[in-house]
Amino acid sequence: MRADRLLEDIVNGKRMTDEEFVKLWQEADFFALGKAADARRQKIFGHNLATFIIDRNINYTNICSCRCKFCAFYRTREAKDAYVIDREALWAKIEEAIDLGATQLMIQGGLNEELDITFFTDMFKDIKARYNITLHSLSAPEISFIAKISGLSIKETLLRLKEAGLDSLPGGGAEILHDDVRREISPNKISTEEWLSIMKTAHEIGLASTATMMMGSIEKLEHQLYHLHQIRDLQDQTGGFRAFIVWTYQPGNNMLAGDKISSLYYLRFLALSRLYLDNFKHIQGSWVTQGKEIGQLSLLFGADDLGSIMIEENVVRAAGTFYKMKKEEMISLIRSAGRIPAQRDTSYNILQIF
Ligand code: SF4
Repeated sequence: MRADRLLEDIVNGKRMTDEEFVKLWQEADFFALGKAADARRQKIFGHNLATFIIDRNINYTNICSCRCKFCAFYRTREAKDAYVIDREALWAKIEEAIDLGATQLMIQGGLNEELDITFFTDMFKDIKARYNITLHSLSAPEISFIAKISGLSIKETLLRLKEAGLDSLPGGGAEILHDDVRREISPNKISTEEWLSIMKTAHEIGLASTATMMMGSIEKLEHQLYHLHQIRDLQDQTGGFRAFIVWTYQPGNNMLAGDKISSLYYLRFLALSRLYLDNFKHIQGSWVTQGKEIGQLSLLFGADDLGSIMIEENVVRAAGTFYKMKKEEMISLIRSAGRIPAQRDTSYNILQIF
């Protein structure tokens, strides 16, 4: 079938096979792909809102034993600038975030052997006792590590964290869900199967999550497609992923080095992700790793959301990439892409339309 006919069928709801993904990657016109992804988005939503959230990313520790090759953030325990956050610093960060309109905290950090489950349950309970804010926190590798050093099962760990106030999980630590790639870029991190299994357990106990991908390090298209296939399959089973978020690898200050992926590759992949992931409602465009203009273009290539106005983002910044944005700027950016800006919460409820 010709690429344009195939795109038309997919926009109308046909599920894309892996072979068709490859065919469209190779043959479809760049703008035709963008147009199809946008048509699919329009069919799902029936409106032209583009959403964002205000949140703060708080890294509770930079001490990490995992030593991923792409990471510029982690430190050894002995490093001069190694830290574990104390309550005073935590309160100051949260209060500053709330003053700026934040509704969500992404609390994430390194895999630090000294921090077992009580560190997290105490921290979450203390936060919830003081503030009305959503905890979208701890990625799957952190959950696995906390379970291991606390001698608990994944399910018990998640249940205790949920009871202490954890609301949902970010999809971090997925990088590329293919073990050939994981062995190279993050050999000490959890496997594809473990990442998927933690997400499955989280969904089963009522913790929704997002699914992420860090593309553009050493992997090939076949690995990226395998990743999409895995998360689409799990979404068929649980329906627990709220969104798909693809980031691009930042080759600064780390062991892996290499080049940045081109924006054209990113946009082409984003459009195909919208069309392939027919069971995902929200697809996020990344202005944090791609810059504001490409973030804006992502809205024309299938994205319905631009993620967060990050009050603090240390991991991408440590790699030398730091785009900052104020709420007003986000609103005007979305407007000039021809979309209606709206602030959302973690569950994608609209809080305010601008
Ligand atoms: S990416 Fe996360 S797990 Fe890997 S070294 Fe950095 S902080 Fe540690």
